[in-house]
Amino acid sequence: MYVTSHALSGAAIGAVTASAGYPSWVAFIAGFVSHAVLDSIPHHDYTSLPGAVVDLLLTGGVIWIVGSLYPTHYLWFWGLFGATIPDLEVGLKHLFPLWGIKLRYPSHSGLLPHPQIPFWPGVLPQILSAIICFGILIHLAA
Ligand SMILES: [Zn+2]
Repeated sequence: MYVTSHALSGAAIGAVTASAGYPSWVAFIAGFVSHAVLDSIPHHDYTSLPGAVVDLLLTGGVIWIVGSLYPTHYLWFWGLFGATIPDLEVGLKHLFPLWGIKLRYPSHSGLLPHPQIPFWPGVLPQILSAIICFGILIHLAA
């Protein structure tokens, strides 16, 4: 899935674990595991640099908006960090093809399913996930 989708779900997980009183490392681990769960849902992934630029700009927007929703604590960020860090290896592999980076995260290495589908059907679950996660974030911030 797009980094933006992982960032939003991770932020929502971080906000939920924070509101339940769990420490930041729980948010990080839950976010890290959520990456594989979201990757198992059939989705669209871009394969171009412009797609990556738009995705990273949107992720920056997510961080800015969630930071505005939660000005007094940053625990949501640990969920977001855990959920997005697995895609770092994918970005590095594409940026530095000569390094021969071997993908290790289970949904990237082929150990867990990572079904790819065309843009419109593949962007829909990510929009639905974004709406649900924004709803959770707004609800918990209120
Ligand atoms: Zn991924």
